[in-house]
Amino acid sequence: MSHGVILPGATLGVLGGGQLGRMFVHAAQGMGYFTAVLDPDTDSPAGRVSHHHIRTGYEDPQGLAELARLCAAVTTEFENVPAGALQTLARALPVAPAAEAVAIAQHRAREKAHFVRCGVPVAPHAVIESPEQLAAVSATLLPGILKTATLGYDGKGQVRVGTPQELAPAWEQLRRAPCVLEKRLPLAFECSVVLARGQDGTVVHLPVQRNLHRDGILAVTEVLEESMPAAFAGQVLEAARSIADGMAYVGVLCVEFFVLADGRLVVNEIAPRPHNSGHWSIDGADVSQFELQVRAMAGLPLVQPRQHSPALMLNLLGDLWFTQGTNARTPPWDAVLRLPGCHLHLYGKLDARAGRKMGHLTVTGSSSAAVRATALRAAQILGIAPF
Ligand code: ATP
Ligand code: MG
Repeated sequence: MSHGVILPGATLGVLGGGQLGRMFVHAAQGMGYFTAVLDPDTDSPAGRVSHHHIRTGYEDPQGLAELARLCAAVTTEFENVPAGALQTLARALPVAPAAEAVAIAQHRAREKAHFVRCGVPVAPHAVIESPEQLAAVSATLLPGILKTATLGYDGKGQVRVGTPQELAPAWEQLRRAPCVLEKRLPLAFECSVVLARGQDGTVVHLPVQRNLHRDGILAVTEVLEESMPAAFAGQVLEAARSIADGMAYVGVLCVEFFVLADGRLVVNEIAPRPHNSGHWSIDGADVSQFELQVRAMAGLPLVQPRQHSPALMLNLLGDLWFTQGTNARTPPWDAVLRLPGCHLHLYGKLDARAGRKMGHLTVTGSSSAAVRATALRAAQILGIAPF
């Protein structure tokens, strides 16, 4: 649905109440909007800070009707929101991103097909939805990673497969869910870019970010001059833009890439929303990815964000609350906050669990070297392995 400008004073809605929704709410409220969050969880990070919190399931007709009644426009903060919910809402009010784009992002096979259509290289892969397809897998895809087509995040729903014999048990382990088998590629490093695309096709973007994953979970994002060769960033941006244009995308989109040992660029996946790797932009850029989300859904002008400070983000996982696996502790935030340029973001989650994203720390400074040194010191204080 095309629409005009929605000015501050109106209410903006978000499907999903996780940390991304919380930071969206913060950005929207900072600009003078009212906010509504739809999430079944009473204690959801975004629900706790929003003006309105509708506590129903994502497909609950009454919940969706209430959201549509309250809001001038709606966005989403996680890609597993049922596409049907977005379609229902889109009949009543502007929704960005659109259900069709979210449906592509929530299914690995459709996502890869879209990348191929846009002319962006993907990892060699095979779709596995039947025993016949499993039996027909080419040995050239091994060693590989079997990934469920839907509902995967933080490396969940993935099994490594070394030999043809391991394939059937791996599929059993994933309960014979529709899967994609991907060849395991030799990575030099990983990177991502967050862009926002408006109704008129305008695209603005944050700088290309370099990401370090540990155990399938993002651990560190750095946006330092030396971490991304300029020629390379141009290639990443061109690919990301064609992926967004290819689905007439409206909203914030993150595109994640692998850079192979031989220098080739391969697209990994997209997120139809702000992304963990763009959190640094709250403190290191003059327009954050969450402000971009507000602007895109409200039809406000999309201006090119400017990074004003080198930045490095450390994810704060629940593991930090447990030393040597014993009693829960509160990590020594005071010692970290004594360091210059440390910006602490905690998501208000009540229970810390290993691997759970509890918050992040962004370090900014006047030089890359200073940022890196401070971030390493913060990591040491918190018990995060050096990078
Ligand atoms: P997210 O939380 O980003 O949605 P996810 O569960 O969708 O994660 P992927 O992005 O598919 O998982 O993979 C997580 C990480 O595992 C990647 O960032 C990369 O480090 C590694 N990985 C995944 N696929 C491959 C591959 N084909 N070759 C090498 N490494 C891979
Ligand atoms: Mg990923």
